[in-house]
Amino acid sequence: MNKAPRGTADILPLEQAYWRFIKEKAESLCQLYGYERIETPIFEEASLFIRSIGEGTDIVEKEMYVFKDRGGKLMALKPEGTAPVCRAYLEHGLFNLPKPIRLFYFSPIFRYERPQAGRYRQHYQFGFEALGDADPYLDAEVIELAWQFFLSLGLKGLRLELNSIGCKMCRPVYREKLKEYYSGYILKICPDCQRRFIQNPLRLLDCKKPSCIEIGENAPHSLDYLCPDCKRHFQNLIHYLEILGLPYNLNHRLVRGLDYYTRTVFEVQPPEGGAQSTLGGGGRYDDLIEELGGNPTPAVGFAAGIERIILNLKKNNIPVPPSPKPNFFISSIGDKAREEAIKLASLFRKEGLGVILAPAGKSLKAQLRQANSRGIPYTIILGEDEIKRNVIRLRNMKSGEEKEIPRHELLSYLKDLTR
Ligand code: AMP
Repeated sequence: MNKAPRGTADILPLEQAYWRFIKEKAESLCQLYGYERIETPIFEEASLFIRSIGEGTDIVEKEMYVFKDRGGKLMALKPEGTAPVCRAYLEHGLFNLPKPIRLFYFSPIFRYERPQAGRYRQHYQFGFEALGDADPYLDAEVIELAWQFFLSLGLKGLRLELNSIGCKMCRPVYREKLKEYYSGYILKICPDCQRRFIQNPLRLLDCKKPSCIEIGENAPHSLDYLCPDCKRHFQNLIHYLEILGLPYNLNHRLVRGLDYYTRTVFEVQPPEGGAQSTLGGGGRYDDLIEELGGNPTPAVGFAAGIERIILNLKKNNIPVPPSPKPNFFISSIGDKAREEAIKLASLFRKEGLGVILAPAGKSLKAQLRQANSRGIPYTIILGEDEIKRNVIRLRNMKSGEEKEIPRHELLSYLKDLTR
């Protein structure tokens, strides 16, 4: 028997209440902030991600699902959501619309990682992007929207970590300072970090190994090496965050795993922290659209992992509204009554009333037991006698109370009941 591929999961009906709850909160918040939905394909030309995420990153080097299609083109399953949105922005001339363009998405994301709790090979992200404006207010807006999203789900005690990693002018200076510092520890850092030292020194700072964390604590801070423009941008952002009352923590070790970030980077962490705990993260990527062939276009965005949010909702016993179910179950006794029941169920559904029809050939007792175990509040009972007399019996499954209702009053009676 086949199983779901390692690191993937089936999202069964019982789980769907969480997904629905999160999506509804996300969508209604996006609407309040003027973000509009976009969907992009689940695969793209691999070069899109190699150019944007960066060649030396874990995602491109080790985690991307890459394949040649039958025409010989190198494709990749989406390992993140931002680059495809930027590609769509350029491809469809969205830059002609009033800026900033505000977009949001839900998307499956694929990364060949070592599966563990909170880390999968296919997971889902809710993300949003504001394209075409360098105003630090927009960074604050994106951070506020992310923060409000988590609050609206009922998550508490979260931390908002913030840093600025500068731009292409000042980051090289900082990178050199960082290398200078780490060259004194080259034999003490882990083998992965020894590789990062050569390929991607900023990533040295977010190694999760305890000995590397300790070394990272005393490393130079990017905030001390910002050029005047980046410094001003960061100060203005802090000002806006304070106006908005958002509780940020400066974290000089926060760099994020994708190369396209510039200036602002931020993450939202649950109270316990830990390696696989980040609920969501984002930042500015002012050079990405130009790198993909467009005009210089500053932009800022955020993405959160839905599975990790669900893990946290469960861990904190946060209740979510149950998925809506049909209010009515129709049971029948005898062949004639079953035909009537089939007709009645169809009519109800056309009238907007949810119905589940009892399976054929079961005793009334077994039918009622099924209605109960499905948690359906009302059962309609149809037997030969009811058909003859043009009535139905309506049973309240909680109280067990039964009532006879004439057929011609039935629809309006049931509609009143569920109003
Ligand atoms: P990133 O695109 O790496 O910034 O990830 C954004 C968010 O997606 C993270 O904060 C996590 O919540 C979630 N995430 C990233 N990778 C995974 C994964 N392999 N499995 C589950 N969730 C993930």
